[in-house]
Amino acid sequence: MVTTNDPNKYQSHKSRSHGNGGGHDHDHADAPVERIEHDLDYFQVRVLALAEILKEKGILTTDEMRRAVEDIYSKTPAIGSRVVARSWADPAFKERLLENAAAACDEMEINTSGINHLVALENTEEVHYMVVCTLCSCYPRPLLGQPPTWYKSFPYRSKAVADPRGALKDLGYEVPEDIELRVVDSTADCRYLILPRRPAGTEGWSEEKLTALVTRDSMIGVGNALTPAEFEAGAGALLG
Ligand code: FE
Repeated sequence: MVTTNDPNKYQSHKSRSHGNGGGHDHDHADAPVERIEHDLDYFQVRVLALAEILKEKGILTTDEMRRAVEDIYSKTPAIGSRVVARSWADPAFKERLLENAAAACDEMEINTSGINHLVALENTEEVHYMVVCTLCSCYPRPLLGQPPTWYKSFPYRSKAVADPRGALKDLGYEVPEDIELRVVDSTADCRYLILPRRPAGTEGWSEEKLTALVTRDSMIGVGNALTPAEFEAGAGALLG
């Protein structure tokens, strides 16, 4: 029933599954599911169908799939922030991170095994790195969670290589002309974590406090880490 690429076929499947022939016409138990299916797009329906097959064939249980999905959504940029803050606070750790990012993350008990080759790149006063995946949406998910929508968009993926400074401007960020801008292209095999520059005025800050300055965008190279003033203003806004 899922060997078709015609989305309309799913409608007919749905109708078939609904016709229970039981002679009653009240809303039965699967009615809410039907309503949900109606709102799904073509690819979401395909995913559900694939999940059904995996269950039917005994390859994965519902519980295993649920745990895998929960694991995916448990990853947030806060994980990458901890790595960056450690690199700011501990120069020896930063050296190890730049040398072998996966091993350095292991030290922090951060599992990046889903990434074949993880590379950390440091932004400096001379060089600024930004990340794109020109093919699709390759992203260091174990460290940053799910990529933002703009990262997956065609305009960003194309402009990041054709006009990187323009792409950054579109995101409200400018890299000074005297800083060399390097664009790195993520692939299925290689993912990048950018180490933003440590903001001035953070001397003596604890690693934990530094973590709060590390934004998702700064780890993609499309923004800076927050300055202490920006952080205070943001925290103030959050506190109302
Ligand atoms: Fe990709």
